[in-house]
Amino acid sequence: MGAAQKDWARRARIKLMTELGDKCVTCGAIAELEFDCIKACGDRHHRIDSSARICFYRAQHRAGNLQILCKKCNTVKSASELPGQYGHYADPDPDWTI
Ligand SMILES: [Zn+2]
Repeated sequence: MGAAQKDWARRARIKLMTELGDKCVTCGAIAELEFDCIKACGDRHHRIDSSARICFYRAQHRAGNLQILCKKCNTVKSASELPGQYGHYADPDPDWTI
């Protein structure tokens, strides 16, 4: 993937974070934030590249199915969601984290 595309994805992610309030909806944390599908829709989007992934999250946001959770709350939430089938895990792309 080209640098410009990656840069676009990073800026799109920040914009989306801002639109969603820029903090964890559960505890109000402002660090280690992750997008979370309110209604779990699997982890397939974790395996696509960052620009495709931001498109996925934007579509979820438009559908009203996206929120921000911190890493800790996301882990807690994931643990209660269909264990073993829809496991969430930390984003594998290190410079995807802001
Ligand atoms: Zn939290």
